Amino acid sequence: MRVTVDKNVCQGHGVCLMVADRIFDIDDADGLAWVVMQPQTDAERNLARQAQGNCPERAIRIEED
Ligand code: SF4
Repeated sequence: MRVTVDKNVCQGHGVCLMVADRIFDIDDADGLAWVVMQPQTDAERNLARQAQGNCPERAIRIEED
């Protein structure tokens, strides 16, 4: 799995951090989300999918292996 955030779409609400704070963070420079760590475990992969499902802007992209 590879997770990315489309910064052209992200609005910086931080919902993704609330779901998966080890995977996403807000960039202090632009106030938008970025991926700190690619998911390594099944639990982390599920959290990434939950964050994607809860992102109000549909800004999170997930490429499955
Ligand atoms: S929930 Fe979506 S729009 Fe909000 S900060 Fe995270 S990626 Fe950006």
